Amino acid sequence: MAAMDLGITDRLAPLLKDVRAMVRDEIAPLDAEYLAEVPKGDRWEFTPRQTEILEGLKSKAKSRGLWNFWLTDSDRGRGLTTVEYAYLAEEMGRSHLAAEVFNCNAPDTGNMEVFERYGTDAMKARWLEPMLNGEIRSAYLMTEPDVASSDATNISLSCVRDGDDYVLNGEKWWATGSGDPRCAVYIVMVKTGGDDQPKHKRHSMIVVPADAPGIEKLRPMTVYGHDDAPHGHYHIRFTDVRVPAENMLLGEGRGFEIAQGRLGPGRIHHCMRALGQAELALELLVDRAEAREAFGKPLSQLGDMYDQIANSRMEIEQARLLCLKAAWMMDQGDARAAAPWISQVKVVAPLVALEVTDRAVQVHGAAGISQDTPLARQWTNLRTLRLADGPDAVHRRQVARAELKKRGRNTA
Ligand SMILES: Cc1cc2nc3c(=O)[nH]c(=O)nc-3n(C[C@H](O)[C@H](O)[C@H](O)COP(=O)(O)OP(=O)(O)OC[C@H]3O[C@@H](n4cnc5c(N)ncnc54)[C@H](O)[C@@H]3O)c2cc1C
Repeated sequence: MAAMDLGITDRLAPLLKDVRAMVRDEIAPLDAEYLAEVPKGDRWEFTPRQTEILEGLKSKAKSRGLWNFWLTDSDRGRGLTTVEYAYLAEEMGRSHLAAEVFNCNAPDTGNMEVFERYGTDAMKARWLEPMLNGEIRSAYLMTEPDVASSDATNISLSCVRDGDDYVLNGEKWWATGSGDPRCAVYIVMVKTGGDDQPKHKRHSMIVVPADAPGIEKLRPMTVYGHDDAPHGHYHIRFTDVRVPAENMLLGEGRGFEIAQGRLGPGRIHHCMRALGQAELALELLVDRAEAREAFGKPLSQLGDMYDQIANSRMEIEQARLLCLKAAWMMDQGDARAAAPWISQVKVVAPLVALEVTDRAVQVHGAAGISQDTPLARQWTNLRTLRLADGPDAVHRRQVARAELKKRGRNTA
């Protein structure tokens, strides 16, 4: 086995310095103003000021070469390893806007990865290139309202061949990014095979333009009451949606193969950003505990505050090491061997970040759940992450199955 280097390499160091400085000095200071624009006018359109903030920051990042870091193992990317990217993604987690500013945001990175790895030349020209340039956006539609979607073999949206087309019927929900007016394309998990096919060969992924006739955006789903406009997570109905047969990715029955390739990197990127959120929460916690007094003492000297601070530091460090090791496993090129490591960190990182954020909320008193700090928004995002890209229980199942297999048990 290769030596396990989890450190900051020479080529990463200057990039990390630049990304950290840009997040701290130029992006994070604009988060609150950007978010305050959302209720002005149509929530699902960008206000001129939002466009100015976002596009201004994006062109700065692009002109400085701070762009598309996430695409590992490809000529189109920066040639970084997943371990190197982990350090950059953690910095991006500290700000609402940062991931998009560097064109490293979900779900686009996962979708770009699909086009890059499994798309035809025509798909690359039509969808991948404008996404790599940050001109259009995308959504990934797997989850359905009527089936337990954490077991993706349940996915039922029908996709039937009719001449040179496929015809799609059914519903999806929680399509993150589908509210964005720039969202031009969906990658959709569909059912193409019947019960006579093996369970993992019944599903496929197909590319559907967001403006295809027969697509209805029924309602934005809310996260603890927030619609996350203008990004959003829509409930979408497909009625006789027709797309050319060449929109099928890889071929019928290969949906799970693609899902495996897509979801691994996406999951770990979320975890890396969650660690950035945890670090931010700990900083805010310490600053507040030092700055505010009650009963004649700084809050930091009351109750079990020292334990809370120490536990937060120790938990973050453990989670980061796990995340880096999972990233390193991915860099070894064996997706199957890396999968249980990704599952481990997909459980651990959101839980740690959520717990640290919750402590920081409590130390801030009522301000902690208000709009005056990033903590409340961060808390809901992290709570969500315990469901999105697979609930905790499903990842625990993966980890347990890997352990049982090591002892020779057949877990099929
Ligand atoms: C904010 C947000 C954004 C999202 N974005 C997207 C997106 O862009 N695209 C997309 O397709 N989906 C998206 N999702 C959906 C998400 O991926 C699903 O909600 C998730 O996969 C779970 O599916 P489900 O909701 O159908 O839950 P179910 O499958 O019904 O599972 C419910 C619960 O059952 C229990 N359970 C399930 N399996 C096991 C097990 N093996 N052992 C023990 N308990 C178990 C767990 O407690 C689990 O939480 C998003 C969700 C949220 C909240």
